[in-house]
Amino acid sequence: MKNINIPFNKPYLTGKETSYIKDAVTTGKISGNGKYTKLCQDFFEQNYGFKKTLLTTSCTDALEMAAILIDIQPGDEIIMPSYTFVSTANAFVLRGAKLVFADSRSDHPGIDEATIEALITPKTKAIVPVHYAGVACDMDIIMDIANRYDLFVIEDAAQAIDSYYTSKDGIKKPLGSIGHLACFSFHETKNIISGEGGLLAINDDQFIERAEIIWEKGTNRSAFFRGEVNKYGWVDVGSSFLPSEIIAAFLWAQLENLKDIQSRRKQIWNNYFQQLKFWANENEVRLPKIPLYATNNAHMFYLVFKNSEKQSHFIRQMKEHQILCVFHYLSLHKSEFYKSKHDDRNLPLSDKYTETLVRLPMYYELKQDKVIHNILNNA
Ligand SMILES: *Cc1c(COP(=O)(O)O)cnc(C)c1O
Repeated sequence: MKNINIPFNKPYLTGKETSYIKDAVTTGKISGNGKYTKLCQDFFEQNYGFKKTLLTTSCTDALEMAAILIDIQPGDEIIMPSYTFVSTANAFVLRGAKLVFADSRSDHPGIDEATIEALITPKTKAIVPVHYAGVACDMDIIMDIANRYDLFVIEDAAQAIDSYYTSKDGIKKPLGSIGHLACFSFHETKNIISGEGGLLAINDDQFIERAEIIWEKGTNRSAFFRGEVNKYGWVDVGSSFLPSEIIAAFLWAQLENLKDIQSRRKQIWNNYFQQLKFWANENEVRLPKIPLYATNNAHMFYLVFKNSEKQSHFIRQMKEHQILCVFHYLSLHKSEFYKSKHDDRNLPLSDKYTETLVRLPMYYELKQDKVIHNILNNA
């Protein structure tokens, strides 16, 4: 295989990661819920107004905690987009839920809000919108449906750190602060990273106490550490969802540089947009659309081609010039694991994005000129 010159992703280090890890290691507290975990959680609560946050070992784990918290029972139905990562789905399937997949929007790969209400049955328990590319779903519509049918909303905000939604009344709300629960990822491919890592944001008070217990293997150990009880024991189901202080120390170094990381990514994103818009127009390629109610956190820059031949041609062409571009999300309703469990509804837009969307390299240290040059001259 040819040596790839420009990778699709390269984890960015701010420089402080190893010294904070060293600090965590030398202070001798390396299991979870120590100083760095608290620094990170306080940062999220103060900057984004989440009522309570808990660091987790991944967004996948945060989603699994959410599924436990809303007490999913076998047969409960969950509405989510088919065009998403498997973790959005797995968390609920693990607890016996039936997935009811919604299609994507024609102007954006996110869930088509207008199709949600018709999918509701007496068994529906929750809606799980995914803020694809860090671009908000239309949360007024989703929260209104949820309120009318008494459903939970769990935001899959894996890609959506530091991005916002402006509701009809003009209030700008951080993504992850709107649903009852929200889940973020710090996987190395996201904007803010810790290798593997995630966060559960809890916006509904009823879940706060139980979330801490589930997080700590079903024990009331957190309450014990705060001196609220004089011994701790097994009080509920749970698992080991908390990351070690080594991970939290890494994450803290990233969070201290969040502004710088975000501004660099936005610069790259805007440069792609400006440099490619004429070419895109000439070649019938669609660039990302940011609706008026959404902000752009520059998680992802993608192109949508006319058909799958153009998609694979582009990926091949770029690869020949040592630039790695990727497509993604084989629609979950067509996956080997779930297709036999899916009802027969077609989800043509979800399929369309699978066949036509390509993600361009996007990371802090990207040498973008080569990518743009190749697109303008060869693709
Ligand atoms: C990355 C991602 C996840 C999973 O995050 P992990 O931290 O790797 O578990 C879930 N949902 C979406 C939409 C993602 O992009």
